[in-house]
Amino acid sequence: MLILGLESSCDETAAALVTGDRRVLAHRLAGQEAAHAPYGGVVPEIAARAHVEALPPLIEAVFADAGLTLADVDAVAATAGPGLIGGVMVGLVTGKALAHAANKPLVAVNHLEGHALSPRLSDPDLDFPYLLLLVSGGHCQLLLVEGVGAYRRLATTIDDAAGEAFDKTAKLLGLGFPGGPAVERAAALGNPHAVPLPRPLKGAAEPHFSFAGLKSAVARAVGEHSSEDLAASFQAAVVDCLLDRTARALAAAPQASTLVVAGGVAANAAVRGALSDLAAAHGRRFVAPPLWLCTDNAAMIAWAGAERFAAGLVDPLDVAARPRWPLDPGAAPVRGAGV
Ligand code: ATP
Ligand code: MG
Ligand code: FE
Repeated sequence: MLILGLESSCDETAAALVTGDRRVLAHRLAGQEAAHAPYGGVVPEIAARAHVEALPPLIEAVFADAGLTLADVDAVAATAGPGLIGGVMVGLVTGKALAHAANKPLVAVNHLEGHALSPRLSDPDLDFPYLLLLVSGGHCQLLLVEGVGAYRRLATTIDDAAGEAFDKTAKLLGLGFPGGPAVERAAALGNPHAVPLPRPLKGAAEPHFSFAGLKSAVARAVGEHSSEDLAASFQAAVVDCLLDRTARALAAAPQASTLVVAGGVAANAAVRGALSDLAAAHGRRFVAPPLWLCTDNAAMIAWAGAERFAAGLVDPLDVAARPRWPLDPGAAPVRGAGV
């Protein structure tokens, strides 16, 4: 089985060819950092235009890389949400056009399902159910992944996502955009104990996350400490919060023999290391995808497409792009939180 995957929900344009037996035959990615850097964040209109320009040559490139053509694919998978609607539409409409032209089925993929299933692409032994910490630019959730399309949300953030906190902290510290990798590099040069910072919701009976207060505390401390010490102390506080909340969820989910982390923040070495130790302490296996599969890419969309296609889940060509699309639509709303 061969799936073409397309991703365009934020500021990465990507295409990939992935097989049902976990071979990534080709994957290409075009970032837009330079276009957005002057604004300190992603500008939706600039992103959508950049996707329009970048996507067709990326698709041609993955077919050339793999020595294959559209006629060889079994289905076309495209991100259909959640994300910046202009960008999502570019990838989804392109996927629909290719599927229609080649008479192939379309799989409309939830970007979060791409992140959630990506560890099964890199680890053939990862079986359901598993406890997933999904930490990305727009989300911070603990999910019980029970199967393809079966996600039970145990916790979410009541304010900022973890990646958003990294990005805002990077901005406060003048470290540039995108923020996560810049904060991680600065943190490596600083003292994580230098700045006393809060650990919002640590030890709380409720299962959720919160990062807005942490970011505000960093804002108040700017100027009183080096950016390296602030970055290190911030990162240590985030790791502490992630660990505390994940430990709570592990205790509540004995059926999950594996702890899994995915999403852009899963590329952070301190986060990965701490979660690996936590899993060991709880007698669970730990799985984290390789770094390139943590941040946005199309291989994870192709793989989620492969999993859905194998389960008989395909979509009509008039399927809509969705700016908001919770993985667990049955989850109760949480204070100010989105999905
Ligand atoms: P979502 O997946 O929630 O829709 P997104 O697609 O924008 O959001 P991802 O691409 O999964 O998010 O992740 C990007 C986020 O990961 C950014 O906030 C970025 O700062 C963060 N990130 C990337 N690398 C690192 C790192 N090494 N350390 C910490 N954070 C990181
Ligand atoms: Mg991005
Ligand atoms: Fe993402």
